[in-house]
Amino acid sequence: MTKAKILIVDDRPENLLTLESLLDNPDVDVIRANSGGEALAKTLDHDFALVLLDVQMPDMDGYEVAELMRGNKNTRNIPIIFVTAKVDNMNQVFRGYESGAVDYLFKPLDAKVFQSKVGIFLDLFRQKAQLEQKTRELDAKVVELEELQQILEETNEQLRLLSAMDGLTGLLNRRRFDEILQEEWQRCLRDGCPLSLLLVDIDHFKAYNDSYGHLMGDNCLKKVSGMLANSLQRHVDKVARYGGEEFTIVLPSTDEEGAMQVAERMRANVEELGIEHCDSDTCGNVTISVGVGSVMPKADGSSHNLLDQADKALYKAKKEGRNRCCTIRHC
Ligand code: GH3
Ligand code: MG
Ligand code: MG
Repeated sequence: MTKAKILIVDDRPENLLTLESLLDNPDVDVIRANSGGEALAKTLDHDFALVLLDVQMPDMDGYEVAELMRGNKNTRNIPIIFVTAKVDNMNQVFRGYESGAVDYLFKPLDAKVFQSKVGIFLDLFRQKAQLEQKTRELDAKVVELEELQQILEETNEQLRLLSAMDGLTGLLNRRRFDEILQEEWQRCLRDGCPLSLLLVDIDHFKAYNDSYGHLMGDNCLKKVSGMLANSLQRHVDKVARYGGEEFTIVLPSTDEEGAMQVAERMRANVEELGIEHCDSDTCGNVTISVGVGSVMPKADGSSHNLLDQADKALYKAKKEGRNRCCTIRHC
């Protein structure tokens, strides 16, 4: 426990001695001042639990010291007890209260009265110190909680991103893609814009796995997915792993002709990757087939039609010989 400091102020050394002897307590640090000016100076250097202030002093009396202490924000809340000779006129007492005293002790000092009054202020000071300590601890806890909250938010954000992502390729997963397709459908419906969708399927991928092994198959999926993502030029275009060796791309505000151009760019880029595939009937490299669907969203329509179109077009591309891009009307 830190010691409580009490300032005793009196111009007479013998009075200071009396006060000091009454305050003889190991938990109390007594600081002396023999003038009002010295008392004010000491209040700047120490945090006092209590000031015992003589009223009658030359130069600056107790009332003046009390008023100056109340006028300073650093000393405003320090309790002041006036120590004075018995007064006949109660107006003097009231003046003391007005200048900021919280209590009076009358000379000659009665040890019991003195100690019980001083004891109350020491208790209050210790309670205040405990409250300040608890407030500091709570402030530290609040900072800690804010930091934890921040970590939680970051973790949630990472989880949100991870739950939207395919683990192998790092592309969006099908769940997130379905949400994006709905959002873009609504947006294109509102804006009166066409919406296109590509379904991409790696040709003869079962044979690739059989020849090169599953691990090489995974590497191939990563290379192809990276190339599909790199083939997109607008940030609103989104590519996702639809499942297995199938990918899907949503192209907002894009008509069939534009979608065919993107599809053809992807097909050519994947072929140019030059991933050897000795068991492919199509050619010596890994290739893709792309089904292109394109619609003008209608209020009574649904994105299922678009997927259905792309699926049929992909089937056509496979049937026509693979390594090609088709719509339901032409390849
Ligand atoms: P097609 O040209 O008609 O598309 O023939 P395909 O062999 O590519 O198609 P099929 O649907 O018969 O086989 C797809 C194969 O893709 C089956 C499976 O071995 C492989 N595959 C699917 N997902 C993964 C994966 O995550 N990793 C690896 N390595 N292979 C996968
Ligand atoms: Mg497939
Ligand atoms: Mg395939």
